[in-house]
Amino acid sequence: MTHWTLVTGANRGLGLEFVRQLLADGARVVATCRHPGKATALNNLAAEHPGHLKVLPLDVGDARSRDELVREWPLAAGDDARIGVLINNAGVLHSGERFGTLTADTLDDSLRTNVTGPLLLTQALAPLLVDGARVANLSSQLGSIANTARFGTPSYAISKAAQNMATVQLAHALRERGIVVVALHPGWVQTDMGGAQASEVPEDSVAGLRKVIDGLGPDDSGRFLDWTGATLPW
Ligand code: NDP
Repeated sequence: MTHWTLVTGANRGLGLEFVRQLLADGARVVATCRHPGKATALNNLAAEHPGHLKVLPLDVGDARSRDELVREWPLAAGDDARIGVLINNAGVLHSGERFGTLTADTLDDSLRTNVTGPLLLTQALAPLLVDGARVANLSSQLGSIANTARFGTPSYAISKAAQNMATVQLAHALRERGIVVVALHPGWVQTDMGGAQASEVPEDSVAGLRKVIDGLGPDDSGRFLDWTGATLPW
């Protein structure tokens, strides 16, 4: 049996597409989301793939929720709770921010969800990650300091830049165990976050991201890549 793949924010958007594609390939998936009771698409998939999909609650920004997942997952898993791939996908973008009226609220929420969440979740799940596991942190080119040429979505951009540093820190912390940690930009994708005008569809973005994740080697740990495998500047 292959080890489990855990996906956060799996009820819609790219997270849901990851779950769909992984199940289609026969993988075993732990799909986490804030409100499993309302996650109709996930629950339908769980009925279609008995034994291969577990749906568990997780608000990545909430310490108690993270603790509960780490406690509950081994009980829900049954025989073997070890995780081979962790996809830190959940993220938030507060649009409409203007310089002059910025407040702490959107900045705090972005940091909690996009930085603290994936960093502390990975730390908490580290004992369950197999040696040689892969951790994919869904980042954004908007978090690239080198590519930032104008003011825009500051809370999101700042949080993704900080998340990139968290990726590099995790890469160093887990290197001894052969665990590869990367920051991945999915492209501009048609989801609730990306909007209908986005250039990519979730199917292609996730297929590309999965190919990148599958091809990762030890030397890739701590890198910032896009869905085509190209390296992005920090
Ligand atoms: P969506 O807005 O479509 O979906 C976001 C997902 O994250 C939802 O499942 C949402 O759950 C979940 N989420 C948000 N906050 C939390 C939280 N506190 N705890 C648990 N889950 C949470 O976004 P995408 O699918 O487009 O984005 C996925 C990732 O890709 C994000 O990290 C994003 O930053 C990144 N990305 C996306 C791009 C795009 O063009 N789409 C471009 C660059 C990066 P809920 O339904 O409960 O809100």
